[in-house]
Parts: sequence; structure tokens; C-alpha cells
Amino acid sequence: MQIIDGKAVADEIKKEIGAEVEAIIAAGGKIPHLVAILVGNNGASETYVANKVKSCEELGFKSTLLRFDPTISEEELLDEVRKINQNDDMDGLIVQLPLPDHINPDKVMETIDPRKDVDGFHPINIGRMAKGLPAYISATPQGVLDLLERYNIETAGKHCVVVGRSQIVGLPMTILMQRNTKIGNCTVTITHSRTKNLAEVCASADILIAALGRPEFITADYVKEGAVIIDVGLTRVEDSSKKSGFALKGDVKFDEVAPKCSFITPVPKGVGPMTIVSLMKNTLLSAKKVIYQ
Ligand code: NAP
Repeated sequence: MQIIDGKAVADEIKKEIGAEVEAIIAAGGKIPHLVAILVGNNGASETYVANKVKSCEELGFKSTLLRFDPTISEEELLDEVRKINQNDDMDGLIVQLPLPDHINPDKVMETIDPRKDVDGFHPINIGRMAKGLPAYISATPQGVLDLLERYNIETAGKHCVVVGRSQIVGLPMTILMQRNTKIGNCTVTITHSRTKNLAEVCASADILIAALGRPEFITADYVKEGAVIIDVGLTRVEDSSKKSGFALKGDVKFDEVAPKCSFITPVPKGVGPMTIVSLMKNTLLSAKKVIYQ
């Protein structure tokens, strides 16, 4: 069994991005610029956005954090998005979710110019991804693809089971794993809370991607001998032995599953560190106008 070290891969990709940005700056090119919108003061959102801004600094990107009061109206927020759409210096825009209840997140996502949608949530990017056209791919699924690629894991012809069908992880994951690309060409099964005989379906997977948000749900009986296990889950559970009072748990019961599989991502330091790196990669692609001219 081999542990997939997401932290090491993320650090390697960060170095590559940092070197490319240095070369761009030396040549007088466009410095990638990421804009993050944060509405209100949700603790977890504050942390996620702070980490994204920190990554920008580390990699030589420009970043702008726009904070708005939770009372901002939907129309006012849409106007702010439109202003960023018009600003040629701003390459990528992310709007941190969740938004207050009176703001429809779909409306906000659809107002972002798809050329700046570095989170890959706009229907145009999702549609282009499904068609196999150049598109911004959402960060977590892209991170999973990069891990499979960097560990030279063969995917063609394999049965990939994805647990979870969310718009940001499960669904794009299934689309990507069936594409006719180097990491792809799987026979894919998508599963969710209504799936019958889930353990049996999972145990038929050569590659099992767990993204359901139920800590340690996937036990050894869900796993075929020699399978590749990708654990996207990340849940805070109370743990009085930790200074913070909580521990981060994945969807996979690591100790039971690890001895059975060929590769496995741990939690933390598995898929998690790849997510921000993918966002940075998308922002760099936007600054270089690779996806859209
Ligand atoms: P989500 O929107 O809550 O979706 C969860 C999916 O899992 C749903 O499709 C749900 O089915 C399915 N599900 C829930 N319970 C199930 C069960 N008992 N059996 C089978 N399927 C079940 O969650 P998400 O946003 O995709 O996130 C999933 C997990 O990944 C969370 O732990 C999240 O924190 C983590 N995550 C991590 C990263 C990272 O950077 N590492 C990034 C994003 C998300 P229904 O559709 O039928 O309800």
C-alpha cells in the first residue's frame, strides 16, 4: 500500500507555479490577479479565504479581498461582480460560499464572467468540461486528477465509483473520470444517499472516490483488495485530546481500509492541500488566457 502524499504534490506544483510567475514578471508579463468576495463573517469562510490570499502572496500573485456586510442586497452584490467582470487587471473571481439566505448563489455564479470563473462553477464551464472543451475545472476534482497523474495511477478501463453527487465534487468527478483523456477512460458509477447496496457497489470499484461528508463511513467491507482510494471528505469532529478541540476526519476509516488497498489519500494532507493549488493553477491559466482568448 502506498500513501498518496497530497501535501508533497501540492508543494511541488506550488514551486512550479511560483517559478512560472517569476519568469512572467521578469519578462514584463501579466501578474495573475485573484479577487475573492467574502460576504459576512462565517468563521470557516474567513479561514478558507485567508488561506487563498496567503497562497497568492506565496506564489507572487496579486490578490484582492472584497468584504461585504451580510446585509448587502443580491442586486448590489451582482453589481460588484459585474464591476470585476469589466476590470481587465482582475483575472479570476471567487465568491466564497455559503452566502446569506437572501442571496441566490446560482444567480451570483451565473453573473461571473465564465472567463474569470476560476472556481469552475459557472454552467458554461461545467458544460464545456462535459463536452471535453477547454474549461476551468473545479478545484477539488482537478486536485484529484493531478494526484492520480503524479502517482502514475492507470485509470483507463478501470471501474471508478464516486460516492456523492454534489455540484462541486461528486458530479464533476464522474464527468472527468469517464472522459477520453490520460486520466480518464474509466467506467464510472455515481452513487448517492438513495443508492441501494452501496457497500457492494463500492466493493466493485478499482478506484473509489469518497465525497459524502460522513466521517469514517467507508469501512473495509466497502473496499476491494488492491483498490485505489481517494478520500475527499473533510469533517471536523470533537476531539478533547487536541488543543483545538476538534480533529479532521475523512470519509474513509483509514486504519481498516489502508491495509487492503494499493493507494490511499490520508486526511489531512491528502486531497485537501490540492484544492487551493488547483485554484491558483486556474488563475494562472486565466492570466495567460489559455482557456479563453
Ligand atoms: P455535499 O454537497 O453535502 O454532498 C454530499 C453527497 O454525498 C450528496 O450527493 C449525498 O447524497 C451523498 N451522501 C450523503 N450521505 C450519503 C450516504 N450515507 N450514502 C451515500 N451517499 C451519501 O458535500 P460536498 O460539498 O460534495 O463535500 C463532500 C465532502 O468533501 C465533505 O466532507 C466536504 O467537507 C469535503 N470537501 C473537501 C474538500 C477538500 O478540499 N478536501 C473540498 C470540497 C469538499 P444526496 O445527493 O442523495 O443527498
